[in-house]
Amino acid sequence: MSLVQSIVYTDSTQVLFPGNVGINILNNSTKICTFDCPYCYLGPTEIKVNQIKSELQFLSVEEVVEALASVLDERQALNKLPSAIEISGNGDPSLSSLLSEQIEAIRYERDKRSPKTRILFLTNGGNLDNKKIIQSLQGVDEVIVKLDAGDDRNFNIANKPLIRVNVSRIISACKSFENLSLQGHFFSGPNNNSSNEAIEEWIEVVGMIRPKKVYLMTTTQSPAVPDVLPVEEDLLYVIASKLKRRTEITAEVL
Ligand code: SF4
Repeated sequence: MSLVQSIVYTDSTQVLFPGNVGINILNNSTKICTFDCPYCYLGPTEIKVNQIKSELQFLSVEEVVEALASVLDERQALNKLPSAIEISGNGDPSLSSLLSEQIEAIRYERDKRSPKTRILFLTNGGNLDNKKIIQSLQGVDEVIVKLDAGDDRNFNIANKPLIRVNVSRIISACKSFENLSLQGHFFSGPNNNSSNEAIEEWIEVVGMIRPKKVYLMTTTQSPAVPDVLPVEEDLLYVIASKLKRRTEITAEVL
C-alpha cells in the first residue's frame, strides 16, 4: 500500500461526510487513543497511554504534505475538490506530538490547492485542556468533539477512558472553541448509552456546551466489543427533535 493510500481516506465509511478527504496524522499502523469505546471499528485500544509519546513515531510533516498534495491534485484533475479535509487518525489525532506543525502544513496545502475546502478536526476531547493543543486547533475551521454521554456512568460505558477525564472536564474543555461541533454516537446492547435517562442527561450537557452543530450516529461497522448493537435510526431522529425543542440546537443524523 502506498503512503497516500495508507494515510488518506476517501471511502465514505471512513470519513464523516461523503466526498470529504480524511487524513490520518498519527501512526499509520497502530490505533492510538486515550479511550477504548466498545463500538470502535478500529478494535480495542491496546497501546498504553504511557507508550504513546515514548515509543511511537508519528507521521512526519513531509509525509502528511506529500499525501495531501497528491490527493488534492488528483481531485482537482477530476474537478471534484472536497468540501472539507477531515483530520482524524487511527485513534485520537490530538495525541500527535507534531500536531501544530501538521495542522500548519495542512492549512498551507489547502490554501495553495483548494482554498474553499474547510478543515475539520475530529477528536475524543480527552486532551482538550492542554494549552498547546488548544492553540494548534485555532488553525482549523471546525473542531468536532465526541460526546456520547452526559453523565460519568454512561461516559465510562460508552468511552471507557484510559486517562483521568470525566464529563465536567470535557464540558470545560469545549468552552475553548468557538467553532465547536459535537458528535454523539448512540448504541444499544447489554451495556449501552441509549436509555431514556442517558439521553436526557446528554441533552442537558449539550445545552450547557452550546455547540454550533451536533452530528448523531450509531454503530454501522464491526464494533470492538461484539455485543454492541446499533440503535434504530428513528431513535436518532427522536434525540435530534428533543434536542431542538429543549435547547434550540440543531442536530443532523448521519
Ligand atoms: S475515541 Fe474514537 S478512536 Fe478512540 S476508541 Fe473511541 S471511537 Fe475509537
